[in-house]
Amino acid sequence: MNRFQNQRVTETVFTVEPLVDVMVFVVDTNVLIHGRGSFPFDKAYLVPEVLQEVKSEAAENMIENVDYDLVEPSEDSIRKVEEKSESLNSPTSQTDEKLLALAIDKGGTLLTDDKALQNLALHMQAEFKGFIDDPLEKRFEWVIVCKNCGNRFSGSSCSMCGSSASKRKQVRYNSR
Ligand SMILES: [Zn+2]
Repeated sequence: MNRFQNQRVTETVFTVEPLVDVMVFVVDTNVLIHGRGSFPFDKAYLVPEVLQEVKSEAAENMIENVDYDLVEPSEDSIRKVEEKSESLNSPTSQTDEKLLALAIDKGGTLLTDDKALQNLALHMQAEFKGFIDDPLEKRFEWVIVCKNCGNRFSGSSCSMCGSSASKRKQVRYNSR
């Protein structure tokens, strides 16, 4: 008897691995402006506002050789990011928040040195990388305090001194 006769042929499932691990990078304005044309990505995903910011800084030449796609993030991701931002009193801009929403949509990595934006990404459990600086590891939030006496602010004026001038104060995040 042939030794192969009773051997069950098992089907092998082959998965096709991409030759190059293509990472999706969503990139903020400052990285594009200060990158000096040397970037750790082949292609960047941007929200349209980033391109406008690059143009308004007259830094178009910085991205002449950058391969990029302009993409609008989903309403759903924008809303989730905005809600988190509000709960943290985050000083991130609308453009920043759209970039994070896009990174979430794409399952990509957000490339930014903006600490507030990195912080928001940490809170959203989104991937991010620093470009020049080491990325943030600890989470923060901001409280609104009186500019005059430092008392915690709620409403339109300070309950201690009556001042209506407030400012954000960065504090370590205590998970609730
Ligand atoms: Zn006060």
